[in-house]
Amino acid sequence: MTAEAWTPLRLLGWTQGFFAQKGVDAPRLTAELLLASALGCDRVRLYLDFDKPLGDPELARYRELVRRRAEGEPTAYLVGAREFFGRRFAVDARVLVPRPETELLVEAALAALPAGGSALDLGTGSGAVAVSLALGRPGARVTAVDLSAGALEVARANAAALGAAVDFLEGDLFAPLPPGARFDVVASNPPYLPAGDLAGLQREVKREPRLALDGGADGLQVLRRIVEAAPRWLAPGGVLLLEMHESHLEPLPALCRAAGFERAEARRDLAGLPRLTVARMAAAPPPA
Ligand code: GLN
Repeated sequence: MTAEAWTPLRLLGWTQGFFAQKGVDAPRLTAELLLASALGCDRVRLYLDFDKPLGDPELARYRELVRRRAEGEPTAYLVGAREFFGRRFAVDARVLVPRPETELLVEAALAALPAGGSALDLGTGSGAVAVSLALGRPGARVTAVDLSAGALEVARANAAALGAAVDFLEGDLFAPLPPGARFDVVASNPPYLPAGDLAGLQREVKREPRLALDGGADGLQVLRRIVEAAPRWLAPGGVLLLEMHESHLEPLPALCRAAGFERAEARRDLAGLPRLTVARMAAAPPPA
């Protein structure tokens, strides 16, 4: 009589308990994602074959993923992907893992992007925002910039895999753009965490690129530079959309108005936290 076999059902049950005890978020879902990755199948398949014992190589792959997850590696890096705005984006430790809150930025940017218009994504990371805009507004011209060459490799691969036409440029914010370029929409999820928040981040977030998170003393260091430069890159009536920290509720819209935007307002995410500032340039004066 052999020992009881490791079926998906038994493994998931065991791992769920183990992850809960290790303080891993969403223990069941995490176990399912890792098992599906080890088996090279999707999550639904796990339940179709729930009583089929795993082979040794599969079991070894799964154990390694479980061990690394328990030690704080983000699930998205372990499985190499994260869903964002209904699509699957490849991710690795060179890019921030796309967050559900950032879908708010995409929704607002799509609402502001006219058919045939142009959009700029600053600090594109995995390309999640730029690719979602390009696929959400066919015919729009989308440009995406990042300071990190590694991030741009990830973003380019995502755009190619998902069939999105995006122009990628390497450099610091607006620096790599051709002089005189104008956009209907400028969107960014820049690093915006205040320095004081960095030490207390979840261990998973600490594995993500510091360049994508660290917003300086008040978290506004990069946001301020974007707001000050954006008016000369926006078309008349153009819209600036910035993801932000909850502490930026008052100062960020105020900075936008001071920089010459006609209107600026903060929006909250589904958790009720201030998460996005939307600022609009004055429309062109009517023809005389
Ligand atoms: N929302 C991210 C977090 O909570 C921060 C992302 C950023 O700085 N752009 O970790």
